Amino acid sequence: MSTWLVTGGAGFIGGNFVLEAVQRGVKVVNLDALTYAGNLDTLSVLDGDARHVFVQGDIGDAALVSRLLAEHRPDAVINFAAESHVDRSIDGPAAFVHTNVVGTLSLLECSRDYWKSLDAPGRDAFRFLHVSTDEVYGSLGDSGKFSETTPYAPNSPYSASKAASDHLVRAFHHTYGLPVLTTNCSNNYGPYQFPEKLIPLIIAKALAGEPLPVYGDGLNVRDWLYVGDHCAAIRRVLEAGRLGETYNVGGDAERQNIVVVKTICKLLDERRPLADGRARESLITYVKDRPGHDRRYAIDASKLQGELGWAPTVTFEQGMARTVDWYLEHQPWVQRVLDGSYRLERIGQA
Ligand code: NAD
Repeated sequence: MSTWLVTGGAGFIGGNFVLEAVQRGVKVVNLDALTYAGNLDTLSVLDGDARHVFVQGDIGDAALVSRLLAEHRPDAVINFAAESHVDRSIDGPAAFVHTNVVGTLSLLECSRDYWKSLDAPGRDAFRFLHVSTDEVYGSLGDSGKFSETTPYAPNSPYSASKAASDHLVRAFHHTYGLPVLTTNCSNNYGPYQFPEKLIPLIIAKALAGEPLPVYGDGLNVRDWLYVGDHCAAIRRVLEAGRLGETYNVGGDAERQNIVVVKTICKLLDERRPLADGRARESLITYVKDRPGHDRRYAIDASKLQGELGWAPTVTFEQGMARTVDWYLEHQPWVQRVLDGSYRLERIGQA
């Protein structure tokens, strides 16, 4: 049985990844600090499952990380842990540097020392996979796509901190030989996403019949990928990626923000019409743009597709319908996030 140390596995993508990994027979040691974004409700189906070991802690806690590595002897470390919300990084960049830069550095140092302590077959098999974002490349004009050779040009404190972490991961390969892999993925959506991000936020507000805030003119473009396809890409890179390489992951599904919002309105109008009969599009409210808002992101994922045979399996339309249905069916999960009770229980636990 493989054993993986997954960091940030109580968050959105990490949570989806852990659920799938355990289902596939992997033992997961899940290290998560349980910031506001960590939610153990997501993992409740794994309660009592010996293949999932949850540990509350900081990736920057070297003593804790070294102990977990020595005790569980993982074949891979997969780093999802991060501060991940651009708006929060504008209000308070320091936490982003603490976790995304300093925390990743500490995790790399612990992983390097553990890797060096392994016997030769163990060293050959070990992987450190760093999960990153397409936002490190900055913003695109009306044409072109980000490839793995696009120069880094991060524009927000979030993307700057992720860019720094990507560079450290690269340096640990070149300097120490650590077998690293990096994935740079476009915007994800799907089950268990914290309702501060565009899609779950709009679903929650549209369900409640509240105004639907859209930044600026709503014409900013993102490339959307269903979270399950991102998790499959990470597993594929872990399995067959070339050491020291980076792989872009994208859904080939560019949509303007306003199109995303209108798609949600339409899906909800069909499933749960508002009591007063209004179309939800009438709730759309344009608000002051985010400072430094990147205009367009688009991913060229041909390296991952050509080398490793990965391709997205869920179209934007299928994924959005699936996501809206998931949020409708999991209102208790959403409500516990919105009313804060998902955190209160955790304070009792910690
Ligand atoms: P998230 O905010 O939902 O989850 C982050 C998790 O990390 C939370 O559970 C949080 O408690 C944990 N965490 C934060 N600081 C920690 C620390 N110091 N030590 C241990 N755990 C800590 O984020 P997400 O959307 O699931 O993103 C996961 C990763 O994927 C991030 O590295 C992010 O940069 C990257 N990514 C996200 C997207 C996206 O669209 N969401 C796209 C591409 C890449």
